[in-house]
Amino acid sequence: MPTIARLPDLLISQIAAGEVVERPASVLKELLENSLDAGSTAIQVHLEEGGVKLIRITDDGCGIARDELALALTRHATSKIASLDDLERVASFGFRGEALASVAAVARLAITSRERGAAHAWKLRGENGAEPEPAALMAGTVVEMRDLYYNTPARRKFLKSESTEFAHCADAVRRLALTRPDVAISLTHNGRSLFQLAPADRARRIAEVVGDDFVTASRTVDAAAGPISLTGFAIDPTRASEAKDGQNVFVNGRFVRDKIIGHALREAYRDVLHGARQPAVCLFLEIDPGLVDVNVHPAKTEVRFRDSRAVHQFVYHAIQRTLATPIQATEPAPVN
Ligand code: ADP
Ligand code: MG
Repeated sequence: MPTIARLPDLLISQIAAGEVVERPASVLKELLENSLDAGSTAIQVHLEEGGVKLIRITDDGCGIARDELALALTRHATSKIASLDDLERVASFGFRGEALASVAAVARLAITSRERGAAHAWKLRGENGAEPEPAALMAGTVVEMRDLYYNTPARRKFLKSESTEFAHCADAVRRLALTRPDVAISLTHNGRSLFQLAPADRARRIAEVVGDDFVTASRTVDAAAGPISLTGFAIDPTRASEAKDGQNVFVNGRFVRDKIIGHALREAYRDVLHGARQPAVCLFLEIDPGLVDVNVHPAKTEVRFRDSRAVHQFVYHAIQRTLATPIQATEPAPVN
């Protein structure tokens, strides 16, 4: 008879990490979301070797109290929800309390944080039995992840080239930059600065991140009906060749890959844009949080709508109407 035994904690976290920590970019996404959830207004990202060797995020958010640092690194510990009710109306990016624990299980993690009003910062290394040590930091939090998968060689083999991993990391930063134009964000790779974005309005941020050509060749989308609204930019069919294809779709501020919305977009463009499979769009859908479930997958890039037919129809009609409107009426706001 086989004997049944409980798995050790570290192994449980390493298994769970498979779902959250697919590659450096997924670590980066989780850390960026934590910084935004902490109310940061400026975030700096430093990467080395595609984020495999180092991911360092510096934010100016609320910080973590000394006595909660160790807790933040344990599984299922979160400050963001406390009940099922909270989960059903969750407005923060995080709520599962497993990102930091997962990262700590498959990489070397260190957190330095200074809570507002604290005399100084504290640093905690994510090693077993480590104690917080006094540290210097003006405010906010620095999270450092080094040597991803150093202790799980089987996972390391699935990493792609440095340039591929970096490209995914840069995408993760861009998506966050798109959803929060009010937050300053910078990205440095191997000591080279890729971008430094100051707080901006949305049109300007999109022009900086996706490209001026996209915004000037796009139509403004602005539609609402009851608990749902859609805003942003959609490429003008006659000018589609002027911008790269690519869809940035956000639901309640979260970047998602959603089949329903993707299909509605294709349908809306079908009659006017022959051949192009993925018309360039940058769209923000806002919907009552009670009508969408974000707790579908640990990485949260999938959502489930309570009434997906209604969402499909709404997006389809919003885009179709936008594309059918004479161009003068929908000139995008000047970007400069
Ligand atoms: P979740 O985001 O789902 O709560 P995480 O494992 O990502 O879970 O983080 C655990 C907790 O650590 C968070 O709930 C938050 O209280 C704290 N935390 C993590 N990163 C930061 C940060 N950059 N600033 C302030 N607090 C943070
Ligand atoms: Mg989190």
